[in-house]
This record gives sequence, C-alpha cells and structure tokens, in this order.
Amino acid sequence: MFFDYHLHSHFSADSGMKMDDLCQAAILKGLDEIAITDHHDIDYQDNKIEFLIDKDKYLKEIEKMQKRYEGELVIKKGIEMGIQSHILQECDNYLANNFDFVIGSFHTVEKSDLYNGDFFEGYSQWEAYIKYLKAVLKVVKEYDNYNVIGHLDIIRRYGNFEKQPDLMENNEAAGLIKEILRMIIKKERGLEVNTSGYRIDGKNPLPSFDILKLYYKQGGKILTIGSDSHKTATIAQKFDFTVSKLKKIGFKYLTTFKNMKPKFHKI
Ligand SMILES: [Zn+2]
Ligand SMILES: [Zn+2]
Repeated sequence: MFFDYHLHSHFSADSGMKMDDLCQAAILKGLDEIAITDHHDIDYQDNKIEFLIDKDKYLKEIEKMQKRYEGELVIKKGIEMGIQSHILQECDNYLANNFDFVIGSFHTVEKSDLYNGDFFEGYSQWEAYIKYLKAVLKVVKEYDNYNVIGHLDIIRRYGNFEKQPDLMENNEAAGLIKEILRMIIKKERGLEVNTSGYRIDGKNPLPSFDILKLYYKQGGKILTIGSDSHKTATIAQKFDFTVSKLKKIGFKYLTTFKNMKPKFHKI
C-alpha cells in the first residue's frame, strides 16, 4: 500500500514525462494511488524558464487519466505551488478549491532563486540557510492554503558549498525549524518526505530524519511521501527504506488527500 504524492508530468517545464507514461509506470511499480503535482511558480525569478500551468488543460488531462485507469490506480489532482510572501493572494486565486492536494514549496525566496544561486550571493552558508528558514517561517505564519510543505530543507541542495550539513546542526537554524514545525502542526498542516533528497548525502530524504524526529516529537502526524520524479525510473524510489525509518521514529500513518482533506493509512 504505497502512494507517490510528488510527481511531475510534462506540464512542468522541467519534465518531459507524459502523464500516461507516468500512470503506467506507477501501476507497474505496484502503487495504489498517486498525486500528480506539477509546478506552478508565480513570479519565479528566472527569465529562462517559466513554471506556470494552464490549469484547465492540466485538470482535464488528469481527469482523462482518472477515467483511463479507473480501478487500477487512484489519481489525485495535485499541484506543487511555489509560495512566496508577496504572492499569497495570487496563489489562492489560482487554487480556487480545484485541487485534491497542494504541496507548498519554496523554490524562490525573497524574489531570488535558490536553484541558480542568486539567493546565496553575499551570504555565508549558514547566513543563507537562516535567511531561508526565516522566510519559510514568515510564510507559514501567514498562509495555510496548502496541505504539506515540500522538501522543507531543500536549501541544502543548492549554493555550491563543499558540505551540506543537516540544518539541525546549527542552534539558530534548529530553533527556527522548531518554530516552523510548531506552526504547521498548530494549523493542522503537514510535511512531505521527499525521497529525491537521498541524492544529497545518500542517507536522508528531504527533510532529514533529524527534522522528521523533531516533527514527531512535537506531535506532527500529517506526512506524505513523494519521489519528486521527473522521469519514470525514479517513481517510488527508496519508499521501502524510508517507510521503515519513519516507523522506527514512531510514525504510524501516511496521509493521502481528497478535496484537501486528509486520510490516514496505517504503515
Ligand atoms: Zn520542488
Ligand atoms: Zn517537485
């Protein structure tokens, strides 16, 4: 009983995977349910690429897949929204209750891009990490039109530093993470466990197991798992290993969503 709740079809500017291929691959991997979560990043700060989706076309294509694979695979209407503090109203307008599941992700922070490195210019590694966490905290205080925060410590992936330390190693960063988690839990929102994270240090998803332990300790229950696949080969990657680690931490459930409402599944 597994669900991959972070998948990018060709509706994402950085994926060439046809939705049909994605669904067939998910069935072959033995998944029961998926959420297709293409990128919608309003005011993304890179002129070379645009992460915006034609919502009507996108939802129609998902509906086509839902009909085609009925009885074989449950397919949810998801989206990965890039959230920034100055576009929260635009995010609400776009979402308009049309989705089953929303990942709130931070790809651009304070109008600078993490991926191309703009965000790090003029800052030391920990200064940049802390600046990122403060921006995340500000948004989770103000905004709750999402179900889970995507890849919470994604900042570790970028910036071209020699080492990518766990954010929990720094006291100030750990304090900010604690506050972010407290806010998410209070607002009945959750975290995703993103298995593309193993690419960074080989040992941790995003967020790291240390952050997930803190989330559990603080009472966090809403948890989705997703591979963040842009190609069929990585769908459901490292799910068995990850789920066994989550159980060891103490988590008892994984979450799926319908019309933004959580459903808990025993693991
Ligand atoms: Zn993302
Ligand atoms: Zn993604």
